[in-house]
This record gives sequence, C-alpha cells and structure tokens, in this order.
Amino acid sequence: MRPNLLILGGTTEATALAQAVAAQGIDATLSFAGRVERPRPQPVPVRIGGFGGADGLASFLTSQRITHVVDATHPFAAQMSRNAVTACAARGVPLVALTRPPWTPQPGDRWRHVPDIAGAVAALAGPPRRVMLAVGRMHLDAFVAQPQHFYLLRLVDPPASPPPLPHHHVIVSRGPFTEADDCALMQQHRIEIVVSKNAGGTGARAKIAAARGLGLPVLMIDRPALPARHEVSTPAEVLDWLAHSGADLGV
Ligand code: NAP
Repeated sequence: MRPNLLILGGTTEATALAQAVAAQGIDATLSFAGRVERPRPQPVPVRIGGFGGADGLASFLTSQRITHVVDATHPFAAQMSRNAVTACAARGVPLVALTRPPWTPQPGDRWRHVPDIAGAVAALAGPPRRVMLAVGRMHLDAFVAQPQHFYLLRLVDPPASPPPLPHHHVIVSRGPFTEADDCALMQQHRIEIVVSKNAGGTGARAKIAAARGLGLPVLMIDRPALPARHEVSTPAEVLDWLAHSGADLGV
C-alpha cells in the first residue's frame, strides 16, 4: 500500500518529519490549527484549520484516503490528540504520536509542579512579583485573576489586542532561544519566577536552563493526560513504524 500520511503539526518536530517524508517521496499533508499568523514554508502540502471534532477528522481521513496519521502536535494540544485517537480507532487508520519526552528536574532546579493552568494561577497568589509567563497567548486571560504581578510575555505573533494583564511587557519572537539570551532577558526584566508548560524538547528549554542558572523558581505545568497510544520520539522512528505497518515506501 502506498502511504498517504496526515501529519498533525504545529511543532518543530512536525516540520522535521515533513522534511523527512518529503525527502523519501512519501505523500503527506501537514495540518495546522491556524493559530500562528505566518506559518513557516513547509516541504509538503499544508491544510489549515480545525476538522470539526473527532467526527470531522474521521470524515477527513476517509475523504482524503489517509492511510496513516502522525500526531506531532504539542504535548499540551490535548483535544487534538484525543480526537486523533478516537477518529483513527473509528476508521481503522494506524496512528502514531511523535512526541518529546518531558523535561525532568536537574540539580539546581527549583520546580514547583502544578497540574494545569488553573494550578499555576492559584500558585501565584501573594504579593506582587516579576513573572516570566511563557504559556502562549491562549491562556493569558486566566492570569487576570492575579493582576498584582508584572508579567513578561513572549509571544509568537504580535497580540491582536492588548494582553488583559495590567502590568506586562510583550516580546514577539518564535525562537529557538538560547540559555544565554534567556538569562540576559530575565536579568534585564528582574524576573523572580518563571511559569512554563512542561513542553519537553530543545526549542523552549533555554528558559528552564536560564532559571536554573539564576536560581529562580519555576512553576512547571505538568502535561495533560492522554489516552493510550503508540508513541515515538524521532522522525526516523516514524518512518520505521510506517515501514512496519504495511506501507510501501518504494525505497
Ligand atoms: P487543542 O486544544 O488540542 O485543539 C483544539 C482544536 O484545535 C482541536 O480540537 C482542533 O479543532 C484544532 N486543532 C488543533 N491542532 C490542530 C492541527 N494540528 N490541525 C488542525 N486542527 C487542529 O490544541 P491547542 O493547544 O490549541 O494547539 C493548537 C496548535 O498549536 C496545535 O497544532 C499544536 O501543535 C500547536 N501548539 C500548541 C501549543 C500549546 O502549548 N498548546 C504550543 C505550541 C504549539 P477541531 O476539533 O475542529 O478539529
């Protein structure tokens, strides 16, 4: 069977996989939610926007004759990942998740684990502090409940409307970031605490290393729970999985 992949993307890993499958001449479509205004050029055809829940994705799999799905979304894109499990099971389409192992604390880290965004907001109760809030623009509203803090916000796109937080400074940059730059940034803004999702991978790790170096506490938001699924951590493993799931890669 000649494979026709659907890659659920929005991560550097998805882009790396798209490059790997394009290099092998494998048919693939890369799907974005459409949250970022200027997605980077990609080596395979791209579609943008939600599918309409698990049912919409299931219909897409059938109408587009998708043979395999790779969920390479961000570890916090839980709804999309749940929908992928449901839709692939419903249509009998093999699914693999290309995902990064979570970060684990190293000597010198001062992490306080919180289960979700609400937990991070609750943990910020108390006197005003200078907070680096690296959670993405979708979740900024939740932090209105702790308006006493100064928030340093790093966003991929310029915000369409001013962030709802009374004291903030916005930096627009999509990374990847270096530890030295993040260290300088934290010192420049006299940051006292960092709020981060446990994204894993290298692209967003610099701020965690910088916080360690500066002895700063980190509110580490743990990953959402996901249904059981087959997981791998490199594009090469995805290609192996494809080869072992009946796909004719023509190589
Ligand atoms: P989410 O909460 O799991 O998804 C919400 C809805 O957005 C999904 O039900 C789906 O809509 C649509 N969607 C999400 N990812 C999609 C994709 N790759 N292709 C098509 N539709 C998609 O996701 P999220 O946390 O908002 O993340 C959205 C995108 O940003 C993902 O592609 C993710 O990889 C990327 N991203 C997320 C984070 C993060 O911290 N969450 C960080 C970096 C990048 P329908 O139900 O209508 O299909």
